[in-house]
Amino acid sequence: MNSQTKTCGLDSLIFDNRFIRELPADPQTANTRRQVFGACYSRVMPAQVANPQLVAYSREVAELLDLSPEDCESDDFTQVFVGNRLLPGMDPYATCYGGHQFGVWAGQLGDGRAINLGETVNRRGEHWTLQLKGAGETPYSRTADGLAVLRSSVREFLCSEAMYHLGVPTTRALSLILTGEEVIRDMFYNGNPRPEPGAVVCRVAPSFTRFGNFQIFAARGEIDLLKKLVDFTIRTDFPHLGEPSLDVYLRWFEEVCRRTADMIVHWQRVGFVHGVMNTDNMSILGLTIDYGPYGWLENYDPGWTPNTTDSAERRYRFGNQPQIAFWNLGQLANAIYPLIEQVEPLQQAINSYVETFEPGWQAMVAAKLGLNVYDPATDDALNTELLILLQLVETDMTIFYRKLAQLVMDAELSNDALMAPLMDAYYVPEQLTDEYKTRLGNWLKSYIKRVQSSGIADAERIKIMNAANPKYVLRNYLAQLAIDKAEQGDFSMVSELLELLRHPYDEQPSKEGFASKRPDWARQRPGCSMLSCSS
Ligand code: AMP
Ligand code: MG
Repeated sequence: MNSQTKTCGLDSLIFDNRFIRELPADPQTANTRRQVFGACYSRVMPAQVANPQLVAYSREVAELLDLSPEDCESDDFTQVFVGNRLLPGMDPYATCYGGHQFGVWAGQLGDGRAINLGETVNRRGEHWTLQLKGAGETPYSRTADGLAVLRSSVREFLCSEAMYHLGVPTTRALSLILTGEEVIRDMFYNGNPRPEPGAVVCRVAPSFTRFGNFQIFAARGEIDLLKKLVDFTIRTDFPHLGEPSLDVYLRWFEEVCRRTADMIVHWQRVGFVHGVMNTDNMSILGLTIDYGPYGWLENYDPGWTPNTTDSAERRYRFGNQPQIAFWNLGQLANAIYPLIEQVEPLQQAINSYVETFEPGWQAMVAAKLGLNVYDPATDDALNTELLILLQLVETDMTIFYRKLAQLVMDAELSNDALMAPLMDAYYVPEQLTDEYKTRLGNWLKSYIKRVQSSGIADAERIKIMNAANPKYVLRNYLAQLAIDKAEQGDFSMVSELLELLRHPYDEQPSKEGFASKRPDWARQRPGCSMLSCSS
C-alpha cells in the first residue's frame, strides 16, 4: 500500500464541531492560566513534541472512526494524535468546568490537560469527539503542566477499552503515543520528583461534558450560559427527549440519573473502584470518565480505595460509590435548579436514581449468582451472608464468582468437596478455619437449594454467571507489569493485555496466568495496591 492510500482515511475524516459552533467561546485567545468567564470553552493549540512514537491503538475505536489499521500505523496518525498536526476541520479547544472535589466546591477546574480536537462524524452519522489528554497546557491548567506520563496513560488507555469490552459504559481510547519528552512527577508527593516518559492518549466519546460543566455556570450566576449548555446537551446528546422545555429539563435530568445508576451497577458488578468521583469526573452521559487512581477489587473489601490521596476518609471506597453518585446527582440538581425553580419535581426526578439502582443492583446480584430473578424473600439473606463471607477471609472477588459457576450442585457433598473449585480465590489458606469452612459450606448448600428450587438448569446457570462474572479484568498488578515494561521501551505487554481484555468473559486457556490472583510482591507495591493522583 502506498503512502497516499495510507493517509487517505485520516484526511477524509469529516468534522462537525457543534460544541464550539453553537456555544459561546472565550473571547481571549492567549493561552494563559486564568478564570474564564462568560464562555463554555477556550480555543487552544496542542503542544508540539519532538519525537512521538505510537505505543498502541484500539482497532475497535479506529473502526468507529472508519480508520483502517494502515491509517493507524501511519506516521501521520502518530503526528495527528500526539497533537503535532491538525487535520482539516479540526478546531482545538478546552472546556470550562468546575466541580466538587472530595465533597468541597473547588471553583473553576476545566480541561487542564485535555484538548478536544473536534467532533468527527463517521459513515453511520455518529458524532465522536476526539480529545487528547496530556497534549499541553490550557487556560484551565492552574498550577500544573498540562502533560501526562506514560504510567497513567497506559492505565487510562487499557482500562477504557477493558471497561468497554466488559460492557461498562465508558469513554473510549483510540491511541497511546509517547511524546519523546520527559515529564517531572513526584509520584507520592513526598519530595522525590523524577523524570518520566511523557505520553498522550486520544480519548473518544460522544461528549465529554461533565456535571461540573453545568455547575460552574450556576456557581457564577451565569444562568444564560447554563441554559445554553443544557439546551445544547439535550439537542445533541438526548435528541429523543424533544425540544428543550421545563418538562424536558426534568426528563433529561431523570435520564442522567438513570444512566448514572446503570453505570454504578456495572462498577459494583465487576469490582471497579473509580477512586476520584468528584463531580468534574462525572459524565453527563453516564460514562466512566477520567481513569486516574482507579483500581480493581482483588480481595473483596467494600472499604477499599486505591487512591492514597483519599486514604484517611476513604470517601470514594468501593462500597460508597452508589451513595456518592447520588450525592453528585444532588449537586447537578442544584446546578440546574435555576432553570426549573421548583424543588419538588427535581426531588421526584432524582428518585429515579434509586428507582433504577435498586432493581438494577438486584438483577446484577441475581446474574452473578446465576439466578434468573432476584427474589428478596430468599436472596436478601443469601447475598448478605455471601458478602460477609467474602470479607471474613481474604477472597478474590473475580475468581470467587467465576469459580462459583463450577460448583457441583449437590447439597449432600462435604464442605471440602463443595469448596474445591473455589480454592484459587483465597489469598491466605491458613485463614480457612473449620469454623469458616462450616459457614461457607452452609452458604453453598443454601445457594444450591435456592438454585434448585428456581428450576434453572445447570448449563443455563453457568451461562448466566459467565456472562456476568468476568474471567479477566485489568488487575492492578497486571497494569503495573505492563507499565514497567513499557517504561523500558517494551510495549508487548500493553498489546497483550489489550488483546486479552477484548474477551474478558471467555476462557483463554493460553492466558490463564492473567486470571491469577495478585501475587504477594504486589500487595504493597505502589501502582499495584496504592495509587496517587499524580499522573
Ligand atoms: P482529576 O481530578 O485528576 O480529574 O483533575 C482535576 C483537575 O485538575 C482537572 O481540571 C484537570 O484538568 C486538572 N489537571 C490534572 N492534572 C493536570 C496536569 N498535569 N496539568 C494540568 N491540569 C491538570
Ligand atoms: Mg478529571
